[in-house]
Amino acid sequence: MYSISEEDYLGTIYRYRDDSGEIKANVIADKMEISNAAVTDMLKKLAKRKLVFYAPYKPVRFTKRGEELAGQLIRRHRIWEIFLHRIIGMPWEKVHDEAERLEHNASDDLINRMEEMLNFPEYDPHGASPETY
Ligand SMILES: [Zn+2]
Repeated sequence: MYSISEEDYLGTIYRYRDDSGEIKANVIADKMEISNAAVTDMLKKLAKRKLVFYAPYKPVRFTKRGEELAGQLIRRHRIWEIFLHRIIGMPWEKVHDEAERLEHNASDDLINRMEEMLNFPEYDPHGASPETY
C-alpha cells in the first residue's frame, strides 16, 4: 500500500510531466506548493519503491510500475469527479478537492461499479471541463 502523500506525488507527476515523460523536481514543488527539499525526500522514497527513476539535478520519470500505478490513481480520481458532478450535482470547480479525499479510500469494486453506472466515461488525466463528457 502507498500513503496518501505518495499517491498525490504520483498523480502530480502524471499530470504535469512533459511529452517525453519527464518532469523537474522544482515543477513538482511548484504544483504541490511544497519545498524542494520535501520533494527530493519523497522522490528518493519513490525511487526506492521502484516507482520513479531519480538522480540529483536530473528530471524525474516513471518506471513502468510507477506509470501504471499513477494511471490507475488518475482513473479513480476522474471517476469520482464525474460521479460527484453528474450524479450528485456538485459544481465542477468543487469536485477536484472532494475527489482528492475520496480517491484514496474507495475499493476497486466500488470504482468499477461507479464507472459502469456512469457508462464508462472518457476521462482526461490533465483535467478537462465537464463539457468534454
Ligand atoms: Zn481533479
